[in-house]
Amino acid sequence: MSSIPTSTNPAELGFDPDALREKYRLERDKRLRSDGNNQYQEVVGDFTHYVDDPYVETRIEREPFTDEMDIIIIGGGFGGLITGARLRESGVKRIRIIEKGGDFGGTWYWNRYPGAACDVESYIYLPLCEELDFVPKEKYTHAPEILEHSHNIGQKYDLYKDACLQTEVTGVEWDAAASQWIVRTNRGDAMRAKFVAMSNGPLNRPKLPGIPGINDYQGHTFHTSRWDYDYTGGGPEGGLTNLADKRVGIIGTGATAVQCVPHLGASAKELFVFQRTPSSIDVRDNRPTDPEWAKSLKPGWQKERMENFNTLTSGGIVEEDLIQDGWTEIIRNLISMANYRGKGFDRAEVPKLMELADFQKMEQVRARAEAIVNDPDTAESLKPYYRQFCKRPCFHDEYLPTFNRDNVHLIDTQGKGVEELTAKGVIANGEEIELDCIIFATGFEVGTEYTRRAGYDLVGKHGVKLSEKWADGMRTLHGLHTRGFPNLFVISNAQAAFTTNFPHAMDESAQHISYIVNQCLSGNVNSIEPTQEAEDAWVEEIISLARMGERFQAECTPGYYNNEGKPNPKSVQNMAYGKGPNPFFAKMKAWRDEGGMEGLELN
Ligand code: NDP
Repeated sequence: MSSIPTSTNPAELGFDPDALREKYRLERDKRLRSDGNNQYQEVVGDFTHYVDDPYVETRIEREPFTDEMDIIIIGGGFGGLITGARLRESGVKRIRIIEKGGDFGGTWYWNRYPGAACDVESYIYLPLCEELDFVPKEKYTHAPEILEHSHNIGQKYDLYKDACLQTEVTGVEWDAAASQWIVRTNRGDAMRAKFVAMSNGPLNRPKLPGIPGINDYQGHTFHTSRWDYDYTGGGPEGGLTNLADKRVGIIGTGATAVQCVPHLGASAKELFVFQRTPSSIDVRDNRPTDPEWAKSLKPGWQKERMENFNTLTSGGIVEEDLIQDGWTEIIRNLISMANYRGKGFDRAEVPKLMELADFQKMEQVRARAEAIVNDPDTAESLKPYYRQFCKRPCFHDEYLPTFNRDNVHLIDTQGKGVEELTAKGVIANGEEIELDCIIFATGFEVGTEYTRRAGYDLVGKHGVKLSEKWADGMRTLHGLHTRGFPNLFVISNAQAAFTTNFPHAMDESAQHISYIVNQCLSGNVNSIEPTQEAEDAWVEEIISLARMGERFQAECTPGYYNNEGKPNPKSVQNMAYGKGPNPFFAKMKAWRDEGGMEGLELN
């Protein structure tokens, strides 16, 4: 655990803040590019095979549905499942989840790459543990257990009953006369529901680098979110035996690559890791769950633990850090620094102190790379030079040592990225590297249009499309409702709560949705939508709060957190509620307690 800097004197700090600030700026500038999100290739046309479902063995054949539900939930990942569970608990009967995959699980259905595991403690990350009387096997449990837990939620809350799996929504339109939504799918369905909740997932659409020659490469390729075990052999636990005679390339070094590179390194004949920006890799320290500890847990333990983590990671004070991991250490240090003003620093100094604490943490992360990686040049390349929350921080104990293997080669592109694919391999730093297989660990679309990522558009009142209404940025009340689209719930962190532990915010939103649906069903309300005034005021509040973080974002190295280095009015407008998740949850609770559905028009 790090000590908290109490001095601003470079000699005592052990680093020079001005020199680091300048280094960060230079590293960011190397990576800034004019094309922003357009640097990526959308998975359409010749690229649609990258999103085929490799896990479905038998296609479900069924007649189209034209029936009627109380609510249709689009997406069977954690967001959809928790919403379904909370609605079921509250007595709602006709619930249908539509899911394009072959089963529930969302992120964990698609991402089965070797080494996949949750990066937030599993006791708080896996939803509804107490309801299912379940404690995960490890502190950071692996993907297969998380996927199984998703299925168990589906079973427990009877969400399979009306579900439509292997089904993609193609359009959603409001039937004003019936006060219902009509949901159309690629299976010819035209089903109806009083409410629709969209839980498409924030990172559901893989993206590829839009580089020349991407179609010319003749070897094997796939994206990490559709891992091809037929090609690699092995499974989520590794043992990729078919790679023993293969030269493998992986493009990207984000949180996904960090988890799968150790397995590729252990199995491939040669592994080439193409890096544009290194991730920050701190200690993981995973361990099996102590059965005695699990037995000792008292009712209410999961909620208490989730709230403890959320308070710590959003700037609050708690008596005890129940989680005690890299996430809570990061934030504890930042906050302690900021709170240090009580001992002589004034308020105006808080941002500076936060920056110092951040420098100090990142110095530790860089020192860790140097201590673990034998080759000094490789170690230097693996050091991240940016502030900790410019990118998702990673925690892993096997990633850095993998670069000590003779068969593993880090190709540091110095912020430029791979330049081109040829028939035989990859061109990086002006040199061609021949490869049998290229794995794209290049992440998911974030800053593109909501409806493009969802894969369907909505037609609301008076024929207005959601893509038209949100052309200049999202407009919502509480991130959840949007005027002109009655009885629609948007489940996302945009204009709502952003939590490091995503399922926490999903559960809060599920409880809120459940409250509103029940108010409407029991009060004979046909439709709800936000008033113009309430929506405008919410968007204004989001923008004015987001302004506070604008400078931080602009100074960050490019990535999906800052719209690829190009924060603009639209990306600022689509940000989360700037006072943090706890104030947001408190606001939503106060709104429910008040009982008048303030800001919503009831018909
Ligand atoms: P990311 O978007 O985080 O990473 C994509 C990577 O591809 C980056 O390293 C990026 O470099 C690189 N890249 C893009 N284009 C090129 C190019 N032309 N040449 C070379 N490299 C390129 O995607 P991930 O799938 O890794 O992670 C996405 C998110 O999913 C995470 O941020 C996290 O929120 C979540 N996640 C969570 C996990 C968990 O809970 N266990 C595990 C994995 C992911 P650059 O940085 O320079 O843009």
